[in-house]
Amino acid sequence: MTTDINVMHWGMDCMDDAQDARVWRHLFERMRYEATKPRKLPVRGLSRVAAVLACAAAMLMLSLPYMAPRQFSLSESQGTITPSDHQPLHAAGDWLTRHKYAVLTFDDGPEGSALDDRILRVLRHHHARALFFVVCSKMNAETARSITKMESEGHAIGNHSYDHLKLSSIASSALPHQIEDCSQRIAQVTGHRPRYFRPPFGMTSDQVRHVAEQAGMKQMLWDANSYDCLVKNPTEIVRRATNETFDASIILMHEKATTAAALDQILTNLEQRGFQFVLPDDASAAVPA
Ligand SMILES: [Zn+2]
Repeated sequence: MTTDINVMHWGMDCMDDAQDARVWRHLFERMRYEATKPRKLPVRGLSRVAAVLACAAAMLMLSLPYMAPRQFSLSESQGTITPSDHQPLHAAGDWLTRHKYAVLTFDDGPEGSALDDRILRVLRHHHARALFFVVCSKMNAETARSITKMESEGHAIGNHSYDHLKLSSIASSALPHQIEDCSQRIAQVTGHRPRYFRPPFGMTSDQVRHVAEQAGMKQMLWDANSYDCLVKNPTEIVRRATNETFDASIILMHEKATTAAALDQILTNLEQRGFQFVLPDDASAAVPA
């Protein structure tokens, strides 16, 4: 502003040499400043565009998990699941939303409608799917109804052998009865053969695994143990199951009254950590009987 006044003044009036030199110096410095001063970019406009693009990307990411169900398969270790590798955008959405996934498994049933229905009720309440590894010698007219109900509610039935023996210790000639005959027994009830096999006590061998694969099943173990076979206190079962479970875990539980009592709190705790309860994508696939 001072310069402008000086220039106007200089244009209207005469100055002496000293004044003249000062004005020229001032003008020169002003011109140099104007030429070199940093130019402001249209930051506000650009930041608005960036914000809109970021919002659109975030909304896309957040909506992806709901557009198509995530797909999983059993991992090489047989103790966890692994997401299908053609879903990188879903993985990004899960990372943003902190979603995690686990498989619930219940061994040693069916126990009959009282206990089976109690477990199914909790699973229904939490929109959770589960895999029930049944012992075929426990199957009768009543427990068969439980198995039918489990499947009708979106759960899957797995083979936990015919008599719940330590299969790695019995004669190899007895394995087909324990494994193949149990699959056939399950198929008589469900109309299709099971896709997953769990050896009793987790005790397996190359031969046991081979016989299971010959019967069209994958062997499924676990990496998270609720210890509900050892622990009698539901609160302690909740603590152990919750602490042992990580993203992609397979959780070992049993059809027991204490487990049924603990189940709602286990699922609530895990849901608060972002967990959803899924099945491997081929667990429910119908295999002809
Ligand atoms: Zn068992």
